[in-house]
Amino acid sequence: MNLNAKAVEAMDIKLNGQVALVTGASSGIGAGVAEALAAAGAAVVVNYHSQAEPAQALVHRITDAGGRAIAAGADVGDEGEVERVFAQALDAFGRLDILVANSGLQRDAAFADMTLQQWNEVLQTNLTGQFLCARAAVRQFRRQGVCEGLSRAAGKIIHMSSVHEVIPWAGHVNYAASKGGVNLLMRSLAQEVAAERIRVNAIAPGAIATAINSEVVDDPQRREELLKLIPYGRVGEVEDVARAALWLASDASDYVVGTTLFIDGGMCLYPAFRDNG
Ligand code: NAD
Repeated sequence: MNLNAKAVEAMDIKLNGQVALVTGASSGIGAGVAEALAAAGAAVVVNYHSQAEPAQALVHRITDAGGRAIAAGADVGDEGEVERVFAQALDAFGRLDILVANSGLQRDAAFADMTLQQWNEVLQTNLTGQFLCARAAVRQFRRQGVCEGLSRAAGKIIHMSSVHEVIPWAGHVNYAASKGGVNLLMRSLAQEVAAERIRVNAIAPGAIATAINSEVVDDPQRREELLKLIPYGRVGEVEDVARAALWLASDASDYVVGTTLFIDGGMCLYPAFRDNG
């Protein structure tokens, strides 16, 4: 395995016996999170949308290292497909303890040029997809209740949000609206189910080097511009997010409920004001 195995070992977090479903796990942050959860001992359902091959390759990496994983295709914006992927998870591993609702996409356009299709596509995946997956997870967590010795919670949900749940983003209003929606979806749901020991939280990454922003990160000039927005002075790595997801999924964060954890190198600190505005 890669860096994750060592990093996970150093964190000393064990998820043995637990089952995790990670959506959009064939690439980027989702793949890193799936690998980290597997390295901590969880059985992992690697959801993918259209890229079966990298999802299968990830499953093989996990099983070759002695872990348990399956790949399961589904469009998170489709109710029937979401139900099917949860059924596959139960068939394969018998229970579910962790959902990482990670799938997301961008369809960028200046506001006046944005088509309804671009708007709908982003909302369907980034917000409706999070709703459908979280709802299926809550229903399953309720059926199971708290399983003593496995986890102090009946289940954990981690929504993948973005710094753009708080930072307005011209040219990306569909994306920012979807992530703003994720914030109140997450907090309202957390409030509703906390008494049942279901923990719901979110992660808001800043700029993490993945396919979603490769056009910016791989272009030296645009990368330079991007770095001006990051006080910590580097673009984030998938592992930065994977470690946080692992912690949020574990009992180490048992009293963390309804919180968004920003992993952004300080991007939300209004860096333009560093020199007194
Ligand atoms: P990515 O493009 O590598 O990953 C997105 C994943 O979502 C892909 O695997 C894709 O197949 C999947 N997906 C898209 N539509 C889907 C659908 N309908 N059903 C199921 N899966 C679908 O990019 P990433 O950076 O790894 O993004 C992961 C999440 O992190 C997204 O929600 C994104 O908004 C969020 N995020 C990323 C960054 C960043 O800088 N990379 C910053 C903030 C938030």
